[in-house]
Amino acid sequence: MNLKQRPKGSYALFETLLLNFLFLLFPVLIVLIFFEDRPHSYNRKILILLSAVTMILCITKPIKLEMGFIFDLRYIPFIIVALFGGYKNVLPLYLVLNIYRFYLGGYGMMYSFLFSTAVFILVPLLSKKFIKLDSKSRIIGATVISFLTMGFYLIILSIIVGTLDRQFWILTFHALTTHVGVMSVIMLLIEQIIANIKNRDRILQSERLNVVSELAASVSHEIRNPLTVTSGFLQLLNKSITLTQIEKGYVEISLQELNRAEKIVSDYLSFAKPQSENMVYSNLKAESEYTKNLIIPYATIHQVEVQFSFNNSLNTNYDTNQIQQCLINLYKNGIEAMKDKGGGILLIDISERKQNIMISIQDSGVGMTKEEISRMGKPYYSTKVEGTGLGMLMVYSTINKVKGTIEVDSEKGKGTTFLITIPT
Ligand code: ADP
Ligand code: MG
Repeated sequence: MNLKQRPKGSYALFETLLLNFLFLLFPVLIVLIFFEDRPHSYNRKILILLSAVTMILCITKPIKLEMGFIFDLRYIPFIIVALFGGYKNVLPLYLVLNIYRFYLGGYGMMYSFLFSTAVFILVPLLSKKFIKLDSKSRIIGATVISFLTMGFYLIILSIIVGTLDRQFWILTFHALTTHVGVMSVIMLLIEQIIANIKNRDRILQSERLNVVSELAASVSHEIRNPLTVTSGFLQLLNKSITLTQIEKGYVEISLQELNRAEKIVSDYLSFAKPQSENMVYSNLKAESEYTKNLIIPYATIHQVEVQFSFNNSLNTNYDTNQIQQCLINLYKNGIEAMKDKGGGILLIDISERKQNIMISIQDSGVGMTKEEISRMGKPYYSTKVEGTGLGMLMVYSTINKVKGTIEVDSEKGKGTTFLITIPT
């Protein structure tokens, strides 16, 4: 009798496990299929809503072990949202979980409330650090946290139940292995989706840069020659003794404007492909120090102090002109972001980490919203009266050429940090 029931029992167990797995896949799939290319905030709301639905489904269809113990996977979406989204985003889940649990009522309601409150308070504390980890560490991190949460739950349960019999250990085994297994698979999927989205964005960005740099190369060359010729003749004209004071004034203005046009063309030219005579294999020391010294007068005018530190021995191939231009653009943006706030400190730090050159440029300026960050680097996007909106485009283009990545961490009103990673 017993023997015949056993396979049926474990079959049912397997079935509910699969069902629960499906519940957990559900938000991931829906977002991937329908909402992946929508703006961030919209996506987040949908994800939270779907996670709440998943949680309710998990609670409704718990995993029943033969000897009567049950457990469910509600804390998997809860922990994932808490880790990726912090307090603000997990709060709705916390409310939904408890409202639903109170609605169900029954024994254990109070414990569930206390336990979820503990998880709600503790797990989002790790969120800020978690987001900064790399993909592999995030998978491991989330799995470990899920393991610890369940462990904590089982310890409390053992105190309530009082007896640590064989059945309890079977429950412990099932609950822990299920959580670790399911969490790692779900996290693997999520991380792969994130990686795919990032890749696609990178390809889009580099397409955009290709078009711009081809245009730039041809247009700027054509324009630069007439500019040089005009400016030369104007300078000659300026030396003429028959010119009146007013006429000299006109010539001066023309020369100034020509200079400005030159500058824009130079900015544009730097989009062009790296020129072989400028290519070096070096560690950025010369370029970063040269550009720092170049920018100091500009910083001083705007009450900005520049703090510079250099600790890098790794070499890589790059075009000196382009890297210099790129650094200047970043320094300038940092200073310009602080000038309306009456100055501040521009922190430049160049170091090495695991075969990567790390360039960090931090300001305490006006900062940007997420939306503004995503628009930055698009041609002609500028929020400044005299801005060209070409600086960041050039930065992205140059870093793209050395196969580097740019991370922007910014908070409106607080400041911005650019972290550039260049592999060697
Ligand atoms: P420009 O400096 O000519 O406006 P950029 O391409 O250099 O063009 O920058 C584009 C826009 O990105 C800026 O107008 C500004 O709004 C934003 N930005 C860039 N860097 C920063 C920064 N460090 N802090 C705040 N905003 C920045
Ligand atoms: Mg700029």
